[in-house]
Amino acid sequence: MKILLSNPGAGVYLGHPLAPLTTWKIGGPAEYLAVPQDLEDVYKILSHAYRRGRPVFFLGRGSNVLISDAGLPGLTLHLAKSLQKLARQGEVIRAGAGVSLPRLAQAAADWGLAGCEFLAGIPGTVGAAVRLNAGAQGSNLGQLLKRAWVLTPRLQLLEFAAPELGFAYRSSLLLNFPHWLVVEAEFALTAEAPPEAIQARMRDFLAARRASQPSNPRSCGSVFKNPPDGPPAGYLIEQVGFKGRRCGGAQVSWKHANFILNQGGATAADIKTLIHQIQETVWVRFGIKLEREVVFLPEDLNMPSREEARHPGG
Ligand SMILES: Cc1cc2nc3c(=O)[nH]c(=O)nc-3n(C[C@H](O)[C@H](O)[C@H](O)COP(=O)(O)OP(=O)(O)OC[C@H]3O[C@@H](n4cnc5c(N)ncnc54)[C@H](O)[C@@H]3O)c2cc1C
Repeated sequence: MKILLSNPGAGVYLGHPLAPLTTWKIGGPAEYLAVPQDLEDVYKILSHAYRRGRPVFFLGRGSNVLISDAGLPGLTLHLAKSLQKLARQGEVIRAGAGVSLPRLAQAAADWGLAGCEFLAGIPGTVGAAVRLNAGAQGSNLGQLLKRAWVLTPRLQLLEFAAPELGFAYRSSLLLNFPHWLVVEAEFALTAEAPPEAIQARMRDFLAARRASQPSNPRSCGSVFKNPPDGPPAGYLIEQVGFKGRRCGGAQVSWKHANFILNQGGATAADIKTLIHQIQETVWVRFGIKLEREVVFLPEDLNMPSREEARHPGG
């Protein structure tokens, strides 16, 4: 790993390992990894990358991605420690894309603002959570969102009101624009007294998650979305006998069948094999197509692999 460019705060690294930046701890290196400090850095780094026609990937806390074993070509913009603005005005909170959801939930509770409690156990960032409409226990981020600011590859900053983003279960219109970067978001909450009641609800949510989810943190949470009609994905996977099923270092959790764990040394190829086997078996047995919630990088962004980028045309 080599620092190629640095100015106060921002750095661009060559061949930086990505596995440690994901919750699964899986994936090869980034050709270039950039860690911006603020929005100005983001502009500079992105305009540099786009001018050179490099593929660009965004990475928050890496809790909903499976990065290929070959790594990622071009530039990966790592936002987990950038864009950390968190401010309150009345019952509205404005948060930078890099703010973690547990931090947002805790800040809201400390300010006596209710509504964010369900976010306390979701280990992602605000930016990715807006894009994917993260949710839990019957609530989702789209219900709280007031406005979001998005940077396009032409470096235009667009402002969207929540209804324009078409939120649905684990989905928003932003999924159609994988090169749009969410940079900031505003949430409308509700003042509630006493604030201890909010803290208590947050503790209850966290306890419910601990009771139902595996303790091994090396996962991406739920691998599949729950089908729109019919039983949840975890139930279907359990019914086809995949609980505990292994491929290399990857294993379907015994506790929650919609979780695939890295039990040590798992590769992206191991996880993909399990995912495909599950999809095929559930399809054959129930006629239900399980749709992935986890994002495959680079495949899902229609980007070349690192090998293809090095040898275009085969
Ligand atoms: C133990 C565990 C429990 C989980 N529980 C839940 C749950 O209850 N509910 C739930 O919804 N999810 C859950 N997740 C999944 C995950 O935490 C969420 O999807 C979260 O929103 C992902 O945030 P991230 O910062 O880690 O995104 P990443 O994994 O880094 O990225 C996910 C996608 O978003 C893109 N992206 C990242 N940042 C931005 C940005 N600023 N602008 C635009 N695109 C961006 C990435 O390119 C990628 O395509 C869980 C995960 C784990 C490991």
